[in-house]
Amino acid sequence: MISALQQIVGTENVLTAREDLIPYSFDGTAALKQLPGCVVFPRNTDHVSRILKLANETNATNVSPPSPPRSGGEGRSEVALRAQGEDRIPLVVPSRSIGIPVVTRGSGTGLSGGSLPIADCLVLCLVKMDKILELDRANLTLHVETGATTQAVSDAANAASLFYPPDPGSMKISTIGGNVAENSGGLRGLKYGVTRNYVMGLEVVLPNGEILWTGNKCVKDVAGYSMKDLFIGSEGTLGVITRVLLKLIPKPAAKKTLVATFAQMDQAAQAVSDIIAAQIIPCTLEFLDRTTIRCVEDYAKIGLPLDCEALLLMETDGHPAAVAEEAAKMEECARKNGALQIRVAKDDAEAAQLATARRSAFSALARVAPTTILEDVTVPRSELARMVRFVAAVADKYNLRVGTFGHMGDGNLHPTFLTDERNKEEMHRVEEAFKEIFAEAIRLGGTITGEHGIGVAKKSFLPQFAGDTQMRVMRELKNVLDPNHILNPGKMFD
Ligand SMILES: Cc1cc2nc3c(=O)[nH]c(=O)nc-3n(C[C@H](O)[C@H](O)[C@H](O)COP(=O)(O)OP(=O)(O)OC[C@H]3O[C@@H](n4cnc5c(N)ncnc54)[C@H](O)[C@@H]3O)c2cc1C
Repeated sequence: MISALQQIVGTENVLTAREDLIPYSFDGTAALKQLPGCVVFPRNTDHVSRILKLANETNATNVSPPSPPRSGGEGRSEVALRAQGEDRIPLVVPSRSIGIPVVTRGSGTGLSGGSLPIADCLVLCLVKMDKILELDRANLTLHVETGATTQAVSDAANAASLFYPPDPGSMKISTIGGNVAENSGGLRGLKYGVTRNYVMGLEVVLPNGEILWTGNKCVKDVAGYSMKDLFIGSEGTLGVITRVLLKLIPKPAAKKTLVATFAQMDQAAQAVSDIIAAQIIPCTLEFLDRTTIRCVEDYAKIGLPLDCEALLLMETDGHPAAVAEEAAKMEECARKNGALQIRVAKDDAEAAQLATARRSAFSALARVAPTTILEDVTVPRSELARMVRFVAAVADKYNLRVGTFGHMGDGNLHPTFLTDERNKEEMHRVEEAFKEIFAEAIRLGGTITGEHGIGVAKKSFLPQFAGDTQMRVMRELKNVLDPNHILNPGKMFD
């Protein structure tokens, strides 16, 4: 298998030495690791096609099989596995006679264990397929290989005075392929939507090596099922996305950034409701809680006020006259709800500095504890204040430290537990806390993940959320597209 892979991509593009594999043995998800069998870097779609065909057809009885599940592994949450100190995830991989497991990887910043290897698998890392292929000014599209970083996509659009809005906090590192596979959101999701809203076409290599192109440059197209939508958010389980045709939009002419602080989280939540009720859709409406504000200030030294319970980062963009009017109205909503302090950025540099407060939230929290477990529940906007209070109460109940921040305008919050994976008893309490948080999110009409995906982290919660019929249809789709279950087996569902 290794020599066949070397023939396809060249020896320099296949890693097998243990020390070379270690950096690919984890992703951005805390406390999970597993060495793969090898890491392969394809340089083009033909390489991907030949590699998948090889993996799909290889007689697996000639190679060591993936580790069997440990007893009791099935159905337990990933946090439970961490709590028991297991560093090999007992993924339930079907016994196979044909097919080598393939885990597609972009930059490995995923937060649900999607690109975490499976024992002895082949990691297909797409970062060397990073060409910007075409910027079409007439049709406002950008055609790229999926190993390009989100930042490179944004920069290419910017250079043509155009705009690619999705901006996940990880955009400097994450790949556009990872963004499509997770349907990633970002700080501008409220006004501009998520990655799916900007995908016009995809090139996908199916597990048997066939290459499929779905979508085009047409603004309207209803010919057949919307296949591209099936692959968006499929988390590397249905095909390998090799190219993407993205929609670009005109760049907003002006932007204004404000930060407001509040003595109580409820005041911040009410200010958000008032802004939306005033029919303003800001491009950014983010919040940080007290713990996160302190960690960010300690880390980034922005001069944030520390005597507050909540901080709102608000941005509006568009026509200069509309921006000025909306910024004034947002300021008024914040004041009406008792804002302690309102800071309006004087220029782009100050605006970027204030946005850094939010962008660095995860990194800032990650500095203060050996293990940070970041979650991703989303509730209808009207339930947000209730959900934030619930997270704080659960943290109190289990005697845990939590920092919560997130996309307040989207109802998407990231409760982040600051813990230590070596403390098994505390990890158990974290798991119990998450179970209550997910159950409450579902009860409030929300979802268990707004943007980070299911991967291994949430798979035990998916059936409760999706229901039997949806689970069956998803399994059937998987069986049709990937009958040998070579792509990311055991992820999303067993
Ligand atoms: C500091 C930080 C901030 C973050 N902020 C955000 C945020 O604001 N919003 C957000 O949504 N997420 C955020 N994330 C999560 C993460 O960055 C995103 O999920 C991102 O899209 C992952 O991209 P990646 O290239 O790192 O993919 P990886 O982590 O390598 O892979 C993610 C999943 O996609 C699959 N995959 C990757 N590439 C392909 C491909 N070409 N074809 C098929 N499947 C593929 C993998 O198998 C895996 O299941 C953040 C993460 C960090 C560490």
